[in-house]
Amino acid sequence: MNRRQLLYGAGIGLMSSVATKAGEKPTPSKDEQPEHRALRLSDYQPTSMLHVRETRVERALYPVIDIHTHITESKKSVNGVDLAAERNFYASPNELIEVMDRKNIRSMVNLTGGFGSGLTETVEKYDKSYRDRFYTFTEPCYSRFLEPGYPDIQAQAIEQAHREGACGLKILKTLGLYLRDNITTGKLVKIDDPRFDPMWDACGQFNMPVAIHISDPIAFFTPTDRFNERFEELNNHPDWSYYGRDFPTNAELIEARNRMITRHPKTRFIVLHVGNFAENLDNVSENLDRFANMNVDIAARIGELGRQPRTARAFFERYQDRILFGTDATPHADNYPQQVFSDELYEIYYRFLETDDEYFDYAPAKVPPQGRWRIYGLNLPASILRKVYNANAVRELRLSI
Ligand SMILES: [Zn+2]
Repeated sequence: MNRRQLLYGAGIGLMSSVATKAGEKPTPSKDEQPEHRALRLSDYQPTSMLHVRETRVERALYPVIDIHTHITESKKSVNGVDLAAERNFYASPNELIEVMDRKNIRSMVNLTGGFGSGLTETVEKYDKSYRDRFYTFTEPCYSRFLEPGYPDIQAQAIEQAHREGACGLKILKTLGLYLRDNITTGKLVKIDDPRFDPMWDACGQFNMPVAIHISDPIAFFTPTDRFNERFEELNNHPDWSYYGRDFPTNAELIEARNRMITRHPKTRFIVLHVGNFAENLDNVSENLDRFANMNVDIAARIGELGRQPRTARAFFERYQDRILFGTDATPHADNYPQQVFSDELYEIYYRFLETDDEYFDYAPAKVPPQGRWRIYGLNLPASILRKVYNANAVRELRLSI
């Protein structure tokens, strides 16, 4: 039986049960024979018939530091490159703190704090007004990338951001997948481009970890066709595909990142989204073994970890000192149901880490948004939960608590 027959087969029961009145035997016409039936994939919302335990974890076992959130964002971007210092503020500190207190979240790290005046404003509004509840990372000022003195300008901007109170540097996948030698038409700039060397060194010098996102799910690098396990997501957002054109492969991006990390052993890296390769924990493990200055977060990847629960649990046991809790949460997430800042989002993460529940949704959405599967809890011991929820972040952010 091939894939198509499987899917149609799944639709038959659904359709005929709808058409049947109580006590009547369905006599499908020829048009309703299985091979003539079609159900649009977007209409298919199967209900699980499994009777399995459902545990609600309202508060995390230990106070949480969410290392990966987006409370603010740049007001202006061109072709995927953030250019403006000014920020959009998506929620007031008090709105966030209400949820944080309910969910046992000690602190949120806002990775997209920008630079210059936008960074200053963000740090004032959140970090300095609500001590230890918010931490802000800075970002490169790509708008100056084409200026001849950019490498030094950028290194100085890191020093300035450090003085302003930024705790680290965030690299979006702008570098490697969007930034071009002349912004719109030139060649894509590689992650290990030497023009950024002074920036990485400055982060090491000022003890600011670099939270780096360089790639995407491996399915985004393959054709958006019937074999693609994230077909619906890519079909809904065709611009998320990096298949074709002049995009590098996922392997090329990871190689460039590794060359860059090799050149900067004194700089600490938090490689986001499980080292940007949650589908291949062997690869992530190899890199964690290779680079002592590399850590990972789990943001927006419990859908991947939770569908390989035995491999994921072994990964957590082995790298329990290198994994940080993160969600990618943002109050402004129209396109990303897996990231909507809410009580429900955090409860799913806690359930995944703390329980051995089976076959549950990894995102607060009717249809699983990152692929049609469900996940299994890891049931981690308290000693590992404490490290993942906060101790590893305390160490990386150099907090004194
Ligand atoms: Zn993010």
